[in-house]
Amino acid sequence: MTTTPLDTATIAIIASEEDHLAHNYHPLPVVIARGEGSWVTDVEGKRYLDLLSAYSALNFGHLHPAIVSVAQEQLGRLTLTSRAYHNDQLGVFADSLARLCGKDMVLPMNTGAEAVETGIKVARAWAYRVKGVPAGRAGIIVADGNFHGRTTTIVGFSDDPSARDDFGPYAPGFVSVPFGDAAAIEAAIDENTAAVLIEPIQGEAGIIVPPEGYLRAVREICTRHRVLFIADEIQSGLGRVGYTFACEREEVVPDVYLLGKALGGGILPVSAVVADRDVLGVIQPGEHGSTFGGNPLGAAVAHRVVEMLATGEFQRRALALGEHLEAKLDGLIGHGVTAVRVAGLWAGIDIDPAVGTGREIAEQLLRRGVLVKDTHGQTIRIAPPLVIRATELDWAIEQLRLVLQG
Ligand SMILES: *Cc1c(COP(=O)(O)O)cnc(C)c1O
Repeated sequence: MTTTPLDTATIAIIASEEDHLAHNYHPLPVVIARGEGSWVTDVEGKRYLDLLSAYSALNFGHLHPAIVSVAQEQLGRLTLTSRAYHNDQLGVFADSLARLCGKDMVLPMNTGAEAVETGIKVARAWAYRVKGVPAGRAGIIVADGNFHGRTTTIVGFSDDPSARDDFGPYAPGFVSVPFGDAAAIEAAIDENTAAVLIEPIQGEAGIIVPPEGYLRAVREICTRHRVLFIADEIQSGLGRVGYTFACEREEVVPDVYLLGKALGGGILPVSAVVADRDVLGVIQPGEHGSTFGGNPLGAAVAHRVVEMLATGEFQRRALALGEHLEAKLDGLIGHGVTAVRVAGLWAGIDIDPAVGTGREIAEQLLRRGVLVKDTHGQTIRIAPPLVIRATELDWAIEQLRLVLQG
């Protein structure tokens, strides 16, 4: 095993963070100073292949020239207006995103959690004003193992103790059923159900791909019971799984898309709720908003992201490279890996406890110049930038093979 002592600059930076930064994360011991494409460079000049892509916020890699150029141009013109006025970037962005989604309307926010909160508000308002649910009774069905963000409402329907415990009291109005079980959703629906809110593939849970037919069944059940199907595609969407949306894997169209992460081009937070007019049209002036949501800088960047996705190039790359990745990772099963789950260029790799924890494997990969992230103890997850080369992917998997070999 290679062991490289950390240099003093790195140690000093990490120490000062530990003194003055809330300990809500436990980062790997690397201090990144630059990024380009699939690679980052630390303060000591060492290079690393970034197989996490900021949890898919960097689907196009670091500093993609087409995104940086539009951001730089917009920085020289106008960055923020608030929604008290119109700006010349938001309308064209909304138009392009609605088109990409095949929907009528867009509600722009900033972070993913805000998009989820917005989706919840829209679903409740739709339930009262359109479906006729009695005031205060609207229910939303979610799935066990979900991750939808960190707000107090959202963590209330998480079943992850570290996300939830000690942050109550929790908001009522949510019921959780097993992920991948459409019959459990149908059984949980009653006359006051407003929506089903799920990730088409659960990301934080470890890239949990539901059984084939699940999304189609959820779509059918929601339609039959007049319940909104809200797909949280914040991590699974925008090219990651080889399609614009993970729902396309089953040719399913939800009523509401929640988007974020890669929508901001790896430059700034941009999120959105996208739906047809009969749903999103329920929101009236003054009922919802955000000071930064829809800002012209974010809109210009996200518009460019949408244009890049509209070519289909990144989806095709993710699909082809994903097949390559899956074949390589399958070869590790039984050699320090107990299971792999792959969807496009997105993988959860369960590490055999005999060779170490997910964190230990991530630390050893770091020493070999590969950045990944562990989740739930024994799993490492990878989400390489969609611009990565097959040869780079092969090199990274070879590093993983060597680490697992011990
Ligand atoms: C990351 C994520 C969120 C929350 O996004 P933030 O920008 O961190 O608030 C919500 N849903 C899913 C599926 C995510 O992966």
